[in-house]
Amino acid sequence: MSNVIFQKTGGNMEDYLTSFRSLLDRLEFPYQRGDSVGIKLHWGEIGNTSFLPPHYAREIANRLQEHGVKPFVFDTTVLYSGGRRTGKDSLKTAEEHGFTQDFLGCPVVIGDGLDGHDVVDVEAGFRHFETAQVTSLVDKADGFFIFSHFKGHLAAGFGGAIKNISMGFASRAQKQRMHSDAHPVLNRKKCTKCGICVDSCPTGAATFADDEYPEYDLEKCIGCAQCIALCPAYALKVFWNTDATIFQEKLVETAAAVWNRIGSKTLLINALVKITAECDCMPGDNPGIAADLGFIGGYHPVTVDREAIKLVGADTFNQAHPNIPWQRQFDYAGEIGFTEPILK
Ligand code: SF4
Ligand code: SF4
Repeated sequence: MSNVIFQKTGGNMEDYLTSFRSLLDRLEFPYQRGDSVGIKLHWGEIGNTSFLPPHYAREIANRLQEHGVKPFVFDTTVLYSGGRRTGKDSLKTAEEHGFTQDFLGCPVVIGDGLDGHDVVDVEAGFRHFETAQVTSLVDKADGFFIFSHFKGHLAAGFGGAIKNISMGFASRAQKQRMHSDAHPVLNRKKCTKCGICVDSCPTGAATFADDEYPEYDLEKCIGCAQCIALCPAYALKVFWNTDATIFQEKLVETAAAVWNRIGSKTLLINALVKITAECDCMPGDNPGIAADLGFIGGYHPVTVDREAIKLVGADTFNQAHPNIPWQRQFDYAGEIGFTEPILK
């Protein structure tokens, strides 16, 4: 069994799906007949145009069903306002983006429940987190298929399988714990005083007096980065209270805690298509930063992400996010033993 499998793609959507099916053919499935398997993906923030269409998820669901497995598609609720903050809104967004039971042939659910309370604490035992609070699906499902859109990310530098398992499985509280070192900082020269950051702030931390520049109360700020993501003038940047590396480490710790629970029954695919500077949480069109390459399948999140970085090129992410020490994710994963065992 190879650690990682790359399937090149190109052409039109049907060619992409042909490549995707070829990759599915080459993966060894760890599931048993009758297993319930959660397909974890991101169905895109409302207004986002770079999320991956539901056709890939349908291919995964079909293939799982051929293996006698019962698939379902899921994502979790997020901290910021928009189309995915509550379970109900998120399901509506999923539907609008084509992720319906009719199309996929399997149910679509919210991993942390419609009210965000369907979560469990899993053991972590690392420097930042003793435990991590994540979707209770880690206990309820028999297996997982992690399907990640590989692209840039404003706080993590890049987003792939590690982030999908970490932030993507995390409860809202755990998401907040990971983000708590980050706050917005304003570049007044760019700010147009439009007020969008104030209107979108979920905690009231961003305020605005008539004709003044917005201000951010760091006592109330939960570091969700909503304001940064939505600012149309790119006037806000992440300010790290401590060190930007801490966020990378927290991200990795949460992913490792989840992986310890699900690793033996999980497959992963990173899609290296529509590679944008920012993640699918951003509304609107995000700039592309690399050509479409194909799909990477594998059996460990650190391995598939490392391979994806190698194929896209580290410089691409360094240029898109020059101040983010994303390399720390790989170094720290090694330090805490979150790596794939060497195959004999
Ligand atoms: S969203 Fe951006 S441009 Fe608008 S007020 Fe806030 S910081 Fe200024
Ligand atoms: S000010 Fe803080 S809490 Fe409000 S949107 Fe920005 S990052 Fe989130």
